[in-house]
Amino acid sequence: MARIVMKFGGTSMAGTERIRRVAGIVKRQQEAGHEVAVVVSAMAGETDRLVNFCREASPLYDPAEYDVVVASGEQVTSGLLALTLQAMGCKARSWLGWQLPFRTDEAYSKARIGEIETGALLASMALGEIAVIPGFQGVSTDNRVATLGRGGSDTSAVAVAAALKADRCDIYTDVDGVYTTDPRIVAKARKLDRITYEEMLELASVGSKVLQTRSVSLAMKEGVRVQVLSSFVDEDAVPADELPGTMIVSDEELEGIDMERQLITGIAADKNEAKVTLTRIADRPGAVAAIFGPLADASINVDMIIQNVAKDKGETDVTFTVPVADLARATALLEERKEAIGYFRMIADDNVAKISIVGVGMRSHAGIAATMFATLAERGINILAISTSEIKVSVLINADETELAVRLLHTAYGLDAKEAA
Ligand code: ADP
Ligand code: ASP
Ligand code: MG
Repeated sequence: MARIVMKFGGTSMAGTERIRRVAGIVKRQQEAGHEVAVVVSAMAGETDRLVNFCREASPLYDPAEYDVVVASGEQVTSGLLALTLQAMGCKARSWLGWQLPFRTDEAYSKARIGEIETGALLASMALGEIAVIPGFQGVSTDNRVATLGRGGSDTSAVAVAAALKADRCDIYTDVDGVYTTDPRIVAKARKLDRITYEEMLELASVGSKVLQTRSVSLAMKEGVRVQVLSSFVDEDAVPADELPGTMIVSDEELEGIDMERQLITGIAADKNEAKVTLTRIADRPGAVAAIFGPLADASINVDMIIQNVAKDKGETDVTFTVPVADLARATALLEERKEAIGYFRMIADDNVAKISIVGVGMRSHAGIAATMFATLAERGINILAISTSEIKVSVLINADETELAVRLLHTAYGLDAKEAA
């Protein structure tokens, strides 16, 4: 017998029929002899709908009241799943964030997780009850509903798995695992049997939305075994216990299994960044600090930065990227400080995309970035900015070339699935 946390995303929970399928999957895991806790998302599209209501009610909404509204989507699906399980003859009970309680801090709309009390939950599971927990929500130190940020149910599931010391956290979604790149964009994408925490963390942070970034760092920190797999399966599908999805594993675990690893594990594209260029800034100490200081004070995350120095004139152009959602705020801030910073023109462009290649093989092999640049250059794709980490290279390109760039790189690094190639 194992203790398993199962998480179902929005598309898996979208409507009565889908919830019935989910209940069937949960019931089979219990019948296999496991203790089961389930974490659910709101129905697909529901959280967006609720966010829009908040915006209509008050454009500068109070995050604490926003949380009261947006957390309701998961309350509905957790109750519906418990009802459906009961109708199938299972014992099931829902546990809202405040009932567990699932404690968080008071950073409403992006709350950090505190302690999760497991006493009542464990007692209920020991009686053979399936625990159904709404993802995304908790209760703050101020005793109010708080949510964890968009896509946060993945993080809820990993946190519950860590608190329950579960043997596995299975994340069920609408694809059957983590692929070399988004399978909805590249038909030749290949499913990975395993990926390391580090690689998954990088991929999630550069745009692979299959898992929320925070859920991966939490799993890595707490040593939670995570499997990504599909809820869109028939009753005779390979059981989850045989690990048909993608397992997230430690580097050491993977090394023991797979000696001939690909240099690049995955490729991600992110269209949620915008490029800002400030021209003809005086090339003197403090000039760059005058730009990025105010952005940091306004909690605007700057990602890529390049600076071109025109030596003869003592002037420099600075280009950087910010999230599209923060572009208007960033440009307004910089416009206000035009005199103080001393730039000539500001050019903003949100028609850009960041393409990233990720793989631990980069640590031990040279020339990986060079292959990326050459592959893009051969097809005339212009690189607007570059950034790197130990296991990742990202380039900024024109958004219209996103799919082409991902496909070219996928082939160049030998990632194409054989049957589709
Ligand atoms: P859920 O509603 O279950 O949380 P998400 O929509 O958040 O599901 O995540 C699943 C989606 O992630 C897939 O439908 C797929 O389009 C996308 N995705 C992006 N990159 C990848 C990747 N490398 N592997 C698998 N799926 C990916
Ligand atoms: N329902 C929330 C969202 O759409 C949380 C989640 O689904 O993970 O962001
Ligand atoms: Mg998701």
